[in-house]
Amino acid sequence: MRIIMLGAPGAGKGTQAKKIAGKYNIPHISTGDIFRANIKNGTELGKKAKTYMDQGLLVPDELTCDLVVDRIQQEDAQNGYVLDGFPRTIPQAECLTAALEKLGSKIDYAIDVDVPDSNIVNRMSGRRACLKCGATYHIVYAAPAKEGVCDTCGEALVLRDDDKPETVQKRLNVYHDQTQPLIDYYTKAGVLKSVDGTKDLEEVFQAIVSILGE
Ligand code: ADP
Ligand code: AMP
Repeated sequence: MRIIMLGAPGAGKGTQAKKIAGKYNIPHISTGDIFRANIKNGTELGKKAKTYMDQGLLVPDELTCDLVVDRIQQEDAQNGYVLDGFPRTIPQAECLTAALEKLGSKIDYAIDVDVPDSNIVNRMSGRRACLKCGATYHIVYAAPAKEGVCDTCGEALVLRDDDKPETVQKRLNVYHDQTQPLIDYYTKAGVLKSVDGTKDLEEVFQAIVSILGE
């Protein structure tokens, strides 16, 4: 099963993508996580990506597309994958479609996690991230067992720089300008499914499972 997660920043794409990956035994591929790992490791890609991410802007398509096209050809992705945070622009979607055509494959579902802007600032300001293993929490809706500590790996949790309120509004504007047109793109491709992302995270997951099948 080849799945794309669509939705505003903070809509819950990563939260649901991890659950999908666990249930259907496919890798969760998050471009945001890949960039953050590169920043942490001080790579050239990380240095370039950071300048855009810190400003709430998208990393240029040419740094993003090949990375994903390589990743989806790895062994663990042969039976499918869930892409989280990619594509984010029409050129990225076109690049993915063209690469998949060459590989004789296609996206089966693009799941739009629909959350209005008014809920997003609350979601993002409460998000806490583990930069070591990529786990995500929320101080109210998905709290870790011990405050400020990752349940999975014990690392200290952080408020991402780009989740600070001043950057969130900019990321929302970027989403509406550059990413929302993908809803139309994948509707035309006949694979778009929408779920109400304002519901409790288990309810959102049940709605997704009823689309993907047990
Ligand atoms: P995205 O990957 O779309 O940026 P996340 O999955 O990281 O979003 O979710 C953003 C924040 O909202 C996180 O702190 C997460 O724990 C929380 N969250 C995700 N889904 C829900 C939900 N259905 N209800 C309440 N909070 C949620
Ligand atoms: P995320 O973890 O998905 O919220 O992504 C965090 C940031 O990484 C975004 O605000 C962008 O700056 C960058 N990023 C992640 N994925 C992409 C992408 N597909 N295209 C461009 N920039 C991206």
